[in-house]
Amino acid sequence: MIIAIDVGGTKISAALVKDSKIIEIRKVESIVHQDLAYLASYLINLCEGWTEQAYSVAVACSGLVGTERVNFLSANDSLPLKLQLETGFGLPVVMLNDAAAAAWAEYSLRPNPLDSTLVYITVSTGVGGGIVQNGQLVMAADGFCAHIGHMSVSRPELPAIECHCGRFNCAEALASGTAIANQASSIVNKAVSCKTVFNEYGCHPEIVQLLEQATDAIVELIANIKALTGTGIVVLGGSVGSTHLFQERIKKKLKALPTIYQVELVAPVSGEHADLIGAALYADSVIGCG
Ligand code: ADP
Ligand code: ZN
Repeated sequence: MIIAIDVGGTKISAALVKDSKIIEIRKVESIVHQDLAYLASYLINLCEGWTEQAYSVAVACSGLVGTERVNFLSANDSLPLKLQLETGFGLPVVMLNDAAAAAWAEYSLRPNPLDSTLVYITVSTGVGGGIVQNGQLVMAADGFCAHIGHMSVSRPELPAIECHCGRFNCAEALASGTAIANQASSIVNKAVSCKTVFNEYGCHPEIVQLLEQATDAIVELIANIKALTGTGIVVLGGSVGSTHLFQERIKKKLKALPTIYQVELVAPVSGEHADLIGAALYADSVIGCG
């Protein structure tokens, strides 16, 4: 069995996984924003009693996940997490970005045989993604790779919006749940979440325009990704990306793109534990089945 761990900003999950099935799962609050120095021991404690049954550890983690280190952008700090966990667990450890893990789950679990290239986009608190190119997950040693939310998109005649990464008009700055909530809050003059915007302000003319701009940004992003990877399939997930409104608007707008930019846009199939299952499947593919 594999111990799979999903380290997010608000929660951390760990599971024993066998043949892409979760056998047992535990969830705790994240300490990424408080106690990074204790993260490795926190993760090892969470998995107490599992080590004897496991032959490897697969970690899906938010941030810049390199081969050896993780750079937790929101905490502005990095850790040699692979070595810390290998020492603590006494098992081989494979780490990857959480959206990359979900991309691998989507690639591995699609019901019908597919092309060997697939791109996964998640639109949620931020905009993230993962790229499987010719059967390989695209990664970089320092972890800054396939962070497609930080690809900038064109937005003619609209004011540029600065992204927290330091550039302008990144897809994340225009279309993430956070970006939609921020812009909507100044339109309606009170603090609203993206979920509230979708549920309660769908008919407000300026909000309709805002959601048009957000979906335009994702369509631009998809066109850029198609030009880069040649993918025929884009999986659009995340709390915002999975909404009917987002899926339908984006599908409609994609059809208006020139033929070479056409992709099949699909909803995810790998479920709520995509990060855990994807990480476990990926660890199996790189270090074998024990
Ligand atoms: P996570 O980033 O862990 O997926 P959540 O799913 O709780 O976190 O929320 C992420 C973002 O998605 C928030 O901006 C939230 O307002 C938005 N969101 C969640 N559910 C919906 C929904 N049904 N419709 C639109 N936006 C949503
Ligand atoms: Zn950015």
